[in-house]
Amino acid sequence: MKATAKKPAQALMERRTDAPPPAEMKKVEAYARDYLAFLGTAKTERLAYAEAVRLLEAKGFRPLDSFKSLKPGDRVYRGYHGKTLMAAVIGRKGTKAGLRIVGGHTDAPRIDLKSVPMMEKGGLAFFDTHYYGGIKKYQWVTIPLALYGVVVRKDGTRAEVAIGDAPGDPVFLITDILPHLGQDQMAKPMREAIPGESLDLLVGSLPEPGARKGAKDAVKKNVLRLLLERYGVTEQDLASAELEIVPAGAPRELGLDRALLAGYGHDDRVCAYAALRALLDRPAAAPERTAMVLLCDKEEIGSVGATGMESTFFENSVAELLEREEKEPRDIVLRRALEASQMLSADVTAASDPHFADLDSPGNAALLHAGPCINKYTGSRGKSGANDARAEFLAQLRATLDGAGVRWQIGELGKVDKGGGGTIAMFLSRYGMDVVDIGTPLLNMHAPWEAASKIDCWYTHRAYAAFLA
Ligand code: MN
Ligand code: MN
Repeated sequence: MKATAKKPAQALMERRTDAPPPAEMKKVEAYARDYLAFLGTAKTERLAYAEAVRLLEAKGFRPLDSFKSLKPGDRVYRGYHGKTLMAAVIGRKGTKAGLRIVGGHTDAPRIDLKSVPMMEKGGLAFFDTHYYGGIKKYQWVTIPLALYGVVVRKDGTRAEVAIGDAPGDPVFLITDILPHLGQDQMAKPMREAIPGESLDLLVGSLPEPGARKGAKDAVKKNVLRLLLERYGVTEQDLASAELEIVPAGAPRELGLDRALLAGYGHDDRVCAYAALRALLDRPAAAPERTAMVLLCDKEEIGSVGATGMESTFFENSVAELLEREEKEPRDIVLRRALEASQMLSADVTAASDPHFADLDSPGNAALLHAGPCINKYTGSRGKSGANDARAEFLAQLRATLDGAGVRWQIGELGKVDKGGGGTIAMFLSRYGMDVVDIGTPLLNMHAPWEAASKIDCWYTHRAYAAFLA
């Protein structure tokens, strides 16, 4: 039979990047304001956790431990070590029928203090550091930096540290050589120009009062004196601390048209917040299936550890739900529930940057304003290390998003063999559930200041809300 060319209704994968109608743009702007407030507060995974719990409790979510039994419509959350969080609304069919999950991460690339951080060199005091996650080191020098975290003393008491964002606070810097003397440095490959070991945070320059001239470590002692005064912590206490260096300053609108948002930690708080809001804004009626949001830690270093997605926290949380819903919460009930679940791995992707267009796979690169981007698979070098979603699940997702009028796109991160990345998708898919990555495209991902489109932020939220509904 002769093939007849059929004209498609619309060019294949034509993507809209214009502003939605005014009524929708109003919602985009309102959502962007709320998200900026969250992003400015949630500067670390611990702060993101605390803010998420505050928002959940304001909408009637209660700690899972406080429930003896659960019924459809109940709103619960369960946290772990103040870093990883699960929140859920129990579905009419019960958790045993399988969950709808949206999971993102709240840790972001940053610079951590070493275990023994205090040092003095050439009359200046520094914190010695070890970076966390994939950063381009040269981007982190000579910008105002803030210090956040917790110091836990031997007796279990704790000091919460936050310096650099409150009005009147000092900031910190990692120094760099001036161009006049930078000729040797500038001739080096970028990855060698600023070595990781040289990321020392400048924290003080005056010797302690009354120190005799040239006294050893007098500047370091002065910083320790100030830490003791303000936070009641000693140098020894810094051995049991989690102190994180992040860019100082609040996120803000970008461009004369204010269409983008510049801020630290869009990866992955933009998706984490979109997922959280999908749960917070749910109508009171119970969903058909238990709707769950996961905000996890340690994604940027491979999802390892007790608070990473590789841990049993998620599985245990589902077991805790079933324990309160079922008369006989046998292990097989849990296995079946996990296998019958579906998940959106809520993580950011790269937006096409015209300055690096040669790295894009034409037609498969995510565009700003075109909505959240589905990545059927992630990984690198022949999809290695990827979760590769099956076509049947993608078809269902397309129908869900189109049915809800959500703007979305599909593609992949960069040209073949140019690099790649991973998300938490593979850790959930190992239970046998359907999982696919979908998240907000970013410009300069993992930089101190990343950029996202307000329109994409909104449609990312709408996509997750449609899936959970
Ligand atoms: Mn991410
Ligand atoms: Mn990342």
